[in-house]
Amino acid sequence: MGNRPPQGENPVLPKHQEKAEWEDAIYDVTALTAASSEITSLIGCLSADDCAQVILQKSSNASKTVVAANFPGALPGDQILAMVAAVVEKRGYTESNTLFAQSVCPDEINHEEGDITNILTKYLGEVFHLGGLAGVPFTGKTGFGAFSHHVPDDGHCFVLMAPHIGLDNESNLGKYTRDGQLGCSAAACGAAGGALNHCCSGLPLPDMAACPEDYQMSFLMHEIAKRMDVILASKDENTKQAQLARQTHEISKSMLDKIVNVNFGGSNSTLVILSGIQINMPRPLDDYFQPLHFYVISKDGQHTSLFEEAFGHASA
Ligand SMILES: [Zn+2]
Repeated sequence: MGNRPPQGENPVLPKHQEKAEWEDAIYDVTALTAASSEITSLIGCLSADDCAQVILQKSSNASKTVVAANFPGALPGDQILAMVAAVVEKRGYTESNTLFAQSVCPDEINHEEGDITNILTKYLGEVFHLGGLAGVPFTGKTGFGAFSHHVPDDGHCFVLMAPHIGLDNESNLGKYTRDGQLGCSAAACGAAGGALNHCCSGLPLPDMAACPEDYQMSFLMHEIAKRMDVILASKDENTKQAQLARQTHEISKSMLDKIVNVNFGGSNSTLVILSGIQINMPRPLDDYFQPLHFYVISKDGQHTSLFEEAFGHASA
């Protein structure tokens, strides 16, 4: 990829023109300049903005194709909210009687405008954070206990759990092109990718008891190590990274199942669980979310699936 020029020295735009919206999404201005010149010579009337829109549309279509192939059912966060809201509102869940918690990797790209995390937080009012590295609910039974005992009388708890995976500008899963990092992309989720790299390296697994200062990463390494056969059976790098995200979701869900309960609120209180995979899309696209579980647990412990009612199909 070409280098992003210093701010204020964009070679494509006329000098008088303000910074265009696409400048935050197209890093390879060298390629854009070449494309612009080529198209203009052919047609003679297209501006850099016109060319940028063509390139962005092609890039967006490529990103959506990768997501559809690897995460069927994934949709932008606002569409997921509409489907979730239609189901929970008719059952009486409201901002005033429902507390929201999320178990999501702390990475800043998971907490941006348009992400399912932020959308649900705005919808339900506040958020309690249960997650640590890779979105695993490392706050544990103590964290869930603290959260759930903040619920109003006869109120409800709603938990979103969403490990994440990046998709960079070159359609590589497991990577993300971050602002200000010229011409390169880095691992996302970095913790899950780092755990996988460690397991591939042949180095011994760390002794969890001996490294309390990095306990979460040690736990991830041990759990990923158990799943290497499944992950490495993937046919190419993108499917391997998608499998890593699915395995990270399973690791997280397994812990979530062990820490939640319905010992809160009153006799009508319930717990709603929505879990899946958050896909960090290249700018300017909003992140996508692939739902994998959506159900409610009533006071007697019974699980009632809301998945098909909400999303119109069975879980992938
Ligand atoms: Zn992460």
